[in-house]
Amino acid sequence: MKYRRLGQTNLDVSVLSYGASPLGGVFGNVNEDVGIRTVHTAVDHGINFIDVSPYYGDTKAETVLGKALQGIARDRYFLATKCGQYGQEEFDFSAARVTRSLDESCARLGVDYIDVLQCHDIEFAEADQIVNETLPALVKLREAGRIGYIGITGLPVKVFSNVLDQVGPGIVDTVLSFCRYELNDSALADMIPYLQSKNVGIINASPTGMGLLTPRGVPDWHLATPTMCEVAKKAVDFCTTEGVDIVKLAVQYCVAHPDIATTLVGTSKPQNIEANIRYAEEPIDQELLSKVLEILEPIHNHNFTRGLPANLDELIPAS
Ligand code: NAD
Repeated sequence: MKYRRLGQTNLDVSVLSYGASPLGGVFGNVNEDVGIRTVHTAVDHGINFIDVSPYYGDTKAETVLGKALQGIARDRYFLATKCGQYGQEEFDFSAARVTRSLDESCARLGVDYIDVLQCHDIEFAEADQIVNETLPALVKLREAGRIGYIGITGLPVKVFSNVLDQVGPGIVDTVLSFCRYELNDSALADMIPYLQSKNVGIINASPTGMGLLTPRGVPDWHLATPTMCEVAKKAVDFCTTEGVDIVKLAVQYCVAHPDIATTLVGTSKPQNIEANIRYAEEPIDQELLSKVLEILEPIHNHNFTRGLPANLDELIPAS
């Protein structure tokens, strides 16, 4: 496993990291013991960065992850969780709520310190509240030594500049972007020079586009349009005929970007995380990659979006 420095933090994170949302049943029912084994497998094979949120499975992901972490020494992993989102339509980025949220997450996770606490999906919040209320509350927690670093997460990449343009240096340490650097989208890559100028560490999530680039396809809550699913399926089927699992290419494509510190992949199955780690260590098949990118070209950067109107990217949604 390779490791990269996460921006200006002192965290050297594995280039492939573990996203624990599936432990909350987000992608289907999960056997708790199997989920716990998945976490252990990830850490035993060199993954040292784990991401979760109270929102995933209505706190279940944090609870199951907490059980898994009981068996792992605290210095073997960096732990990131989130605050501000508590249900599909339930957001509260007030100072009081995010402060209480840290205590609740620590209790569920069985830890007394969070390495990175992130404002969860700020496209659903007014930038003004994040800048003037939420981030100052997180700075107090960081100064008190309760958390190591502060992050923001979101789907439209515009949310990052909306906030970073308004805060001083050293307030936000990391950004977590999802579904915007994957085989069918490269919007995050275009933003990297800007993010580097703001000295923030870059976390990429969802290399398969939350299931889009898998043989199983997307779960029913997914916002991908029928066109996205149709074109993605062509890419999946092409890989299958070439004898390659598209997940392999999806993981390799993401971890190969030198300016993305880490890519979070989610799964509740030990064999999947083991395969993903193996993929991350093998060289990418450039010829296959070119062909798959060509198949995906009709939907390239035509992704779904969501959030308050002021926070949306100017995308051309795929029909
Ligand atoms: P993902 O692209 O990692 O895909 C997960 C899906 O791929 C699951 O259905 C899983 O079973 C499947 N999968 C994984 N490895 C596989 C393999 N080897 N073979 C077959 N199928 C495989 O999407 P994700 O889980 O949503 O994203 C990863 C993590 O990133 C999340 O768990 C979460 O921690 C984080 N994330 C954060 C945000 C946010 O902060 N807003 C949003 C999305 C994701």
